[in-house]
Amino acid sequence: MTSETINKIYELLSKRFGEQYWWPGESVDEIIVGAILTQNTNWGNVEKAIGNLKQASVMSLAAINAIEIERLAELIRPAGYYNVKAKRIKNFLAWFFDEFGGDIEQLKKSDCASLRVELLSINGIGRETADSILLYGLGKAIFVIDTYTFRIAYRHGLIDDQCDYEELQRLFEDNLPCNVKLFNEYHALLVRAGKEFCKPKAKCSGCPLECLPHEIEQE
Ligand code: SF4
Repeated sequence: MTSETINKIYELLSKRFGEQYWWPGESVDEIIVGAILTQNTNWGNVEKAIGNLKQASVMSLAAINAIEIERLAELIRPAGYYNVKAKRIKNFLAWFFDEFGGDIEQLKKSDCASLRVELLSINGIGRETADSILLYGLGKAIFVIDTYTFRIAYRHGLIDDQCDYEELQRLFEDNLPCNVKLFNEYHALLVRAGKEFCKPKAKCSGCPLECLPHEIEQE
């Protein structure tokens, strides 16, 4: 039943929304920086911050590593919490250059589980950010969980309100083929459904998942 529901959700979202072409970034460097910048803000603000980095010709991990943190904070100001995020990006870079010499290919060759543990040990890198970097930046088969995933899974009876991040991640990973492209698309589709329909107060009318059993207060 769980497996059937998880696969049906994907089928319905995919049919309605089509391919999402995530992550919206031109390079691995940009995806990693974007994954940190998108914490607690909307994507439009991230785009402005990345636009500033590009305009200043520092949209690469090596270039960002070379500039002062104050300069970085100023450039990413549109993304909000810019001092905190500048520190987080610098924390990531300190680890990346210490452990991998700034070599993305070496990073990509590392095992997903141990890389995740290391990413989570970096101050300011939480589970969603770490998993976004692993999946969208490094092409690792890991399912990204966010607020929308929790909300949609809960409202369709896949989990109870005690379920935690890793439990929900396992639920998706155990019931889907282990496939980077599928995990990429599925998460992007859940975000789309969450933004358009599955808001704090659900708009089930017209939602692609309206035909599936769900039990919630509706608008
Ligand atoms: S809006 Fe309603 S039908 Fe759509 S995902 Fe949320 S609970 Fe399901």
